[in-house]
Amino acid sequence: MARTSFTKPIIVISKCLNQAACRWDGDCLRYPFVRALRRYALLVPVCPEMEIGLGCPREKIWIFDRDGRLSLEQPATGRKLTKAMRSFARHHIRSLAEAEGFLLKSKSPSCGIRDTKRFDNGNSPRIVGRGPGLYAAQALKSFPEAAVEDEIRLENPRVREHWLTRLYVLAAFRSLRKRPSVGRLETFHNRNVVLFAAYNRKRTGGLKRVMALLSEEPLEDVLERYETNLHLILKRPARPKAMVEAMSPAYEHYAGHLDKAERRAYRKLVEECASGEAPVNEIRKLIQVWAVRYDKDFTREHSLYRPYPGPLAQE
Ligand code: SF4
Repeated sequence: MARTSFTKPIIVISKCLNQAACRWDGDCLRYPFVRALRRYALLVPVCPEMEIGLGCPREKIWIFDRDGRLSLEQPATGRKLTKAMRSFARHHIRSLAEAEGFLLKSKSPSCGIRDTKRFDNGNSPRIVGRGPGLYAAQALKSFPEAAVEDEIRLENPRVREHWLTRLYVLAAFRSLRKRPSVGRLETFHNRNVVLFAAYNRKRTGGLKRVMALLSEEPLEDVLERYETNLHLILKRPARPKAMVEAMSPAYEHYAGHLDKAERRAYRKLVEECASGEAPVNEIRKLIQVWAVRYDKDFTREHSLYRPYPGPLAQE
């Protein structure tokens, strides 16, 4: 089976995820997925709390919400840290010329992407809301099209599937933008169009109309339009049923080689994947086995069958 080459996505990652003992209690979070990610992506580790000079170990910091005004503080020392954290976040994120994604530590007042607790101002503070930490808030604002997740959400196979797919499609598009040509755009489009249709059939129709403009408009203008549509298509995860249906041509292609029991097992797997009971990647793995066994790997033409390096799905 021919190997697919992938452009490595650039991913900003919280340093305490399996990389450095920089948490407030001097610990490092064990997270083996990062080991696999390191092989297939360009990681940019960052610990915003260390960067603003809090040291390790350190007293806990909290976000207070006072009538809508957020304040990052270290109650044990009385230090106010909002300005320092916002300034670091702006500078660090501005220094990233490009990034396809972020993998940030959940619940942190700096790195949490959506579930960080906010407290009121009482002597025994109560939770008054949740939202992103201050570093993550800047990342979400400055990179609205990036694939942003935390380690807890990535335990969900559907979330991980979508995150990885987005990362590798966006990285391939970055590579195309660096050396643009009509031929390279056509290759990118042909490789991804079946995947895009599984994500969003209607918007993929729009993308085809953008491709038709190649004969009339400058390449740069077409690329701009293409990119806008691409982000809209990848904004939400594909429905498992749509992904499973999109892969049915591969089954048709190999079905003649399969015996009755194999065909029955495939149909059962399709039901499980379409209902979300099993990850769609299980069908991919099966198709790849057939491709090796029967040496007729028509699937390598389409990213639908290999949207990202296989080992990343198995970690
Ligand atoms: S969550 Fe962010 S700020 Fe906290 S230790 Fe991890 S990397 Fe550092």
